[in-house]
Amino acid sequence: MDTYVIATNNGHKLEEIRAILENDRRRFLSMKEAGIATDPEENGSTFEENALIKARAACKASGLPALADDSGLEVDFLHGEPGIRSARYCPGSDQDRVDFLLSRLKDVPAQQRGAQFVSAIACVYPDGTEFALRGVCRGVILTENHGQGGFGYDPVFFVPEEGQTFASMPQTRKNAISHRANALRLTREELEKRGL
Ligand code: IMP
Repeated sequence: MDTYVIATNNGHKLEEIRAILENDRRRFLSMKEAGIATDPEENGSTFEENALIKARAACKASGLPALADDSGLEVDFLHGEPGIRSARYCPGSDQDRVDFLLSRLKDVPAQQRGAQFVSAIACVYPDGTEFALRGVCRGVILTENHGQGGFGYDPVFFVPEEGQTFASMPQTRKNAISHRANALRLTREELEKRGL
């Protein structure tokens, strides 16, 4: 049995990661469960680099294989903004950032409001092996909030195939189709391929 540490204390991410990657060969601990605390500067210029920075720090601190996620929203009309700056696009609350995003898209017609959530999952091992994989989920940015669930930009991220925003679909449905779920499924394939 291999024990990994996940470079997060976010309970939702832990659950999502465990649901897709845990099996009889692998188990996953939070940083708290592993008895470590790291908060490295996320100064990479891509989601993959930032995920690797977090995973390397957790691997070094614990001596265990480590997994980390970095995610955000890329809006086509804004050439990929807010991207790796999603969490700090502007000061204030999640709703302040949603409002700021909507102000940047004022008067932009529906067919030009395409966007994608991106998640990079990085794995880093004590022997220096490392890799990072990206998952995306495409959608459209609405002009006002729809739905009460989720967090961040969920209330304005509409998935046409589902006819719902991330905030209005059940959590279980979001977890099945999300950028993070897609990245985790690719990670599971990569782990199998490498015999890890
Ligand atoms: P982090 O990877 O947890 O630091 O997330 C970065 C930021 O991207 C979050 O603070 C949100 O603003 C945004 N984000 C990432 N994933 C999601 C999601 O599933 N829904 C809504 N916002 C998200």
